[in-house]
Amino acid sequence: MRIRVGHLYPEYLNIYADRGNIAVLARRAALRGHELSVRAISRGDELRPGELDLLYIGGGQDREQALVAPDLAEKGPALAEAVAGGAALLAVCGGYQLLGRSYRGQDGSLMPGAGLFPLETVAGETRMIGDVLLECRLDGGEPRQLAGFENHAGRTLLDEGAQPLGRVLYGFGNDGVSGFEGCRVGAAIGTYLHGPLLPRNPWLADWLLARALAHASGGPPPALEPLDDTLEREAFRVAASRARERGGRR
Ligand code: GLN
Repeated sequence: MRIRVGHLYPEYLNIYADRGNIAVLARRAALRGHELSVRAISRGDELRPGELDLLYIGGGQDREQALVAPDLAEKGPALAEAVAGGAALLAVCGGYQLLGRSYRGQDGSLMPGAGLFPLETVAGETRMIGDVLLECRLDGGEPRQLAGFENHAGRTLLDEGAQPLGRVLYGFGNDGVSGFEGCRVGAAIGTYLHGPLLPRNPWLADWLLARALAHASGGPPPALEPLDDTLEREAFRVAASRARERGGRR
């Protein structure tokens, strides 16, 4: 199958090589006989909800976020329609913040958000930096772990009843106090975890791919053929042990 991917603002939001996540999705799709066709969607470009199976938005500093925020806010209804229609989405750090209702940056200016995720973000005085380990139960099944790296001044507060991506085992997460990390709406996931995230957490790459394939085919998420993830498991192990060395949840 062909999986149609919309990569939002790749020229503005790509901190810590976040676009590596797209390379992982493309490779893991190809190994199962599927093809990723990736289109950049930038300022002024139209986002046609039904035409995308997966959306991706990376991280960036406040300066880059301010450049794209008004355009992204305008795309909010189309994004919400895409996700309500079952499209998968991954948003990292700066992109995650901008998919909430608003982000107040470090200089006090208020950036409008796309309103996809039920949350708000306000920059604090200190940055939250380091390796993170999370526990996630995405579909109510067995708990799984995600390892990554966070570096953000923004404190993200989820609305009452909003679904986090996971619980922080080590690291700060959304705000350093709630114990929550990220947010999930349907097949849309927002997270502070960079790294890039997917090379060391291949199960999440496959979770997104299966949902993108379901959207492309109109059927249920397929069971994807397992791959040899020896290297990926080692990358996860190293990142997870660095997170553990940070000590308890901050
Ligand atoms: N500018 C945002 C913050 O500092 C996001 C940074 C990032 O994407 N790493 O909170």
